[in-house]
Amino acid sequence: MDTPLPDLVAALNQFRPVIVAPYASMGRLLAAEQEAGRLQIHPVLVVLSAEGLAPGDYERIARVFGAKVRHGYAATECPFLSYSCEHLWLHVNSDWAVMEPVDADYRPTPPGEQSHTVLVSNLANRVQPILRYDLGDAVVQRPDPCPCGDPLPAIRVQGRAADVLTFPDEQGEPVAIAPLVFGALADRIPGLQRLQVVHTTPTTLRLRLQAAAGADPGRVWQAVHTGITRLLDDRHLGHITVERAEELPAQSPGGKYRTVIPLR
Ligand SMILES: [Zn+2]
Repeated sequence: MDTPLPDLVAALNQFRPVIVAPYASMGRLLAAEQEAGRLQIHPVLVVLSAEGLAPGDYERIARVFGAKVRHGYAATECPFLSYSCEHLWLHVNSDWAVMEPVDADYRPTPPGEQSHTVLVSNLANRVQPILRYDLGDAVVQRPDPCPCGDPLPAIRVQGRAADVLTFPDEQGEPVAIAPLVFGALADRIPGLQRLQVVHTTPTTLRLRLQAAAGADPGRVWQAVHTGITRLLDDRHLGHITVERAEELPAQSPGGKYRTVIPLR
């Protein structure tokens, strides 16, 4: 997942997968590679996870690959939460999970209206109960039966657009990096509790980091800086400035820590 895109494309071309299950933002990048002719794979099914894409993106990915596209919406706290139908509605597995769209004061949001956040209870996990866990995403529940015939509650997630960062290379051509790449990097750095990558100007990345208790913040910063610099160099983005923020990672209004905050 931290492989530069051209290497990933080459590996996929060699492997020729039947099913591809990328994070949604990576799925969109792969579709662009397939459109450009660099990627030449023919999966029968593309299963996208994590960030929501615009509805047009799902159709585009299906068309580009000539494949069925489905997606899931879930969380570590409830990995089987929901899966999409052919009408792009997410059906909640409500026999195993309770999903409650609520407003900012945690009052129920009626079907058809956009919620402020959503609470999830995992009924399958008895070892570590997860009750009314706040996922931080705005959702809309369909008020009428879904035309696919599935009677389970149908929702759409409005909250998160894919947080792909796009930088100009030395020639001014755009180079996109999926948010997952930064998350994967952060996972590998010892002593790093949380990293937030903020794209502040087209050629500046500001890194907010929080070291774990007992870790040396200077050492953690060195490791993060080395990792990010290598990641950028691998993509011919050595001219991007990486700066250390004095402030700690910040929560978004929904209460989530986003790993990546794109340029506005
Ligand atoms: Zn449906």
